Amino acid sequence: MSQDVCIIRGDGIGPEISDAVEKIIDAAGVAINWIPLDAGLKCVEAGEPIVPDRTIDRIREVGIALKAPMTTPIGKGSVSPNVTLRKRLDLYACVRPARSLPGVKTPFQGLDIVIFRENSEDLYTQIEYMVTPTVANSIKLISEQASEKIARAAFEFARKNGRRLVTCVHKANIMKIADGLFLRTFQRVAKEYPDIESWDIIVDALCMQLVTKWRQFDVLVLPNLYGDIVSDLAAGMMGGLGVAPGANYGDKTAVFEAVHGSAPKYAGLDKVNPMALLFSANMMLRHMGHDAQAEAIEGAVERTLVKGVKTYDLLGSAKTSEFADAVRAELRL
Ligand code: NAD
Repeated sequence: MSQDVCIIRGDGIGPEISDAVEKIIDAAGVAINWIPLDAGLKCVEAGEPIVPDRTIDRIREVGIALKAPMTTPIGKGSVSPNVTLRKRLDLYACVRPARSLPGVKTPFQGLDIVIFRENSEDLYTQIEYMVTPTVANSIKLISEQASEKIARAAFEFARKNGRRLVTCVHKANIMKIADGLFLRTFQRVAKEYPDIESWDIIVDALCMQLVTKWRQFDVLVLPNLYGDIVSDLAAGMMGGLGVAPGANYGDKTAVFEAVHGSAPKYAGLDKVNPMALLFSANMMLRHMGHDAQAEAIEGAVERTLVKGVKTYDLLGSAKTSEFADAVRAELRL
């Protein structure tokens, strides 16, 4: 029986990487009934919100969506489709794994971290105003409730996946009240997981240590803004935006998406790397209980890379569709 999954094919390079991913999942033998949903630039051009209510409602009903990147129109008044989805579906945990890959040369061999970024508050509440004509104020909102949810999600993940260490990343030496609350809440939750080691580090020290002693880190928990920045750093360490996956989890709904955006200048060229969306889809397959198929796809990608079939961003010459065909040919089911 096929399972329903919503899909937003997105803007720019979105449709071509979605196509590659759908074909690989199909070849891996997972029967999915893809439900295409509208969102992104075409909705804005039609005078609709960038993520229409019908799209939000359908994702809420189905519970799972794979989302290709969308273009955020620049200018006053346009809201980010991603922030909209995260807020309206209460997707409080943004999870971004970063690990070094066979066949992808980086100085960071042995990198294997999982980032848990709080997704709903901090400076992303978009509460901003001008105090005077020359002074702006942007509110950093941290609640014990949201801090507890993200800390718990990270410890639960660590326990289920045999991870050894969860590290809280903060700037509580300066923002003693807001980041102090995030850290204290983390420390309280940590006491419920005596089987997992816990630690904390100031965000600037983390950035330095990530690029010098990356093997010492395992699971990281961060407020929204630090999580956003550190996950792009981690994406670079694993080989670039073309390979970095992500997922957004709420209690009832999960939306899986690559870290990268819609890269409009490459749209329609059959050139970009579909791996980031594919690895995001793999996180989705595991969430749905298709662990064996997710593992088969990971193995096929690794063999493809080791054989030297890579897209331009990994210094290869394969097109998006050629890379996808090579992965399909490498599947061992
Ligand atoms: P981007 O991530 O789209 O692209 C930046 C550069 O990264 C590209 O020019 C390309 O060199 C490289 N790149 C990105 N994805 C790649 C891939 N799959 N394979 C190979 N190389 C890849 O960032 P941007 O140019 O700043 O943003 C473009 C649009 O995407 C903007 O409208 C932005 O708001 C939006 N955006 C959307 C999301 C999302 O939907 N999750 C995330 C970030 C940005």
